Amino acid sequence: VSVGDVLTGRIGCPVFVDNEANLGALAETRSGAARGSRGAAYIRVGHTISAGLVIGGSVFHGVTGKAGQIGHVTTDENGPICKCGSRGCLDTLAGGAALLDLFRDDPGMQRIRDLLLRAESGEPSARRVIADAGRHIGIAAASLSNLFDPERLVIGGELAGAGETLLAPMRHALERSALAGSDGVPEVVQGELGERAEMLGCLALAIENVGLDTELRSLAPLDSRRA
Ligand SMILES: [Zn+2]
Repeated sequence: VSVGDVLTGRIGCPVFVDNEANLGALAETRSGAARGSRGAAYIRVGHTISAGLVIGGSVFHGVTGKAGQIGHVTTDENGPICKCGSRGCLDTLAGGAALLDLFRDDPGMQRIRDLLLRAESGEPSARRVIADAGRHIGIAAASLSNLFDPERLVIGGELAGAGETLLAPMRHALERSALAGSDGVPEVVQGELGERAEMLGCLALAIENVGLDTELRSLAPLDSRRA
């Protein structure tokens, strides 16, 4: 069932739907850190981890819309059980929920924001947990890069606020495990749009689809336009 089609039918105006990673990828491609790249992956690290893949300026969805589910790449086959039913998915090792769970006896560590503040203030355990997450994400990103060959990896989502604490270990893991092309391994950069990425992606999606719709309408023969 297409949610967009159902809503379009109910409210009588066009509705376009996509997931947060794809919307973030679209926004960063149009007006952020992936601007001008020939191929980019936007890796969104929040409570869970997912990616939006952009090829030639368009988001690649796959056949059933599941493309980019990097959070369910097996990172440790004997690792914790994941919500998806598999074991040791990247989400269970590096997703925000998994990181906060490591501090479950600490009442001051409830949100990703708490973790970022602790890391910023120099608390070693918080910095270590974020760095380990970066390393795990880097290993999964290396597989993604080997399969998809992007030019740039843009890191977004709330945990991207950790900056180099997250990105440096990610880069290191990527350099160890990704096949290097003539330009080396893909560049790893922080998203430029921050928390606004998904909202700006929504606007881009609507504007581009409505634009397309108008173009198609103008291509249709006059009779069908009147009908
Ligand atoms: Zn999973």
